[in-house]
Amino acid sequence: MSEIILSIKDLKVNYGGIEAVKGISFDVPKGDIVTLIGANGAGKSSTLRTIAGLVRPKGGAIEFQGENIIGKDAASIVKKGVTLVPEGRRIFPDLTVNENLRIGAYLRNDDISADLDWVYELFPRLKERSWQAGGTLSGGEQQMLAVGRALMSRPKLMMMDEPSLGLAPLIVRDIFSIIKEINKRGVTILLIEQNANMALSTAHMGYVLETGRITLSGPGKELLANEAVKAAYLGT
Ligand code: ATP
Repeated sequence: MSEIILSIKDLKVNYGGIEAVKGISFDVPKGDIVTLIGANGAGKSSTLRTIAGLVRPKGGAIEFQGENIIGKDAASIVKKGVTLVPEGRRIFPDLTVNENLRIGAYLRNDDISADLDWVYELFPRLKERSWQAGGTLSGGEQQMLAVGRALMSRPKLMMMDEPSLGLAPLIVRDIFSIIKEINKRGVTILLIEQNANMALSTAHMGYVLETGRITLSGPGKELLANEAVKAAYLGT
């Protein structure tokens, strides 16, 4: 059996009286791509933001490499090797591409040049535009910048919140092939998506989240063929 890098048990997230996540459990095996799919408001972002230390859960356990990380601050979770590519990219529009990437490494004090080279190799467009302000990039390029910035922290686990949101189908395909490439280099990926088709085609394992609960799970390809998933999420 493969090593579990992230283990979530009975996770509950509340906002005041709203129960956004109602006790979900899942494991992320080291080296895999795992996806959580589900409609708007199902609790996907809340789950990722809680793992990243941005939201305090109501209950449950989050173990990264066997260590409980609930209650740790966001910076120390990044230092342990967990990074989040947030929904809507959240790049710094007035800083250059190069500066945006360097910000991703702000918690490191070792040499970052090899990682910068790798990011520019993965995204030649970013290299061409390294001195351009982030805000002048297209939506797809900004998504690449957000991914590049996350990689600069040298993550073991990269979490991605809706990387395909608002992007044209061709660009979405590019982003997903880069996700596979990053994964091949040894980075475990936890991806949340409304684009269930792309996510399930790419992921080793998928979970369906509905109003705060996991209702289905299985290998990505199996879920793609599941009639209930097809009807609810694949528009077929
Ligand atoms: P989306 O695709 O819209 O991001 P999601 O599946 O990621 O959806 P969440 O964003 O986790 O879902 O939201 C789950 C529930 O929690 C929703 O009902 C949402 O309105 C609520 N919620 C999320 N963030 C907050 C917040 N900061 N304060 C209050 N309620 C929130």
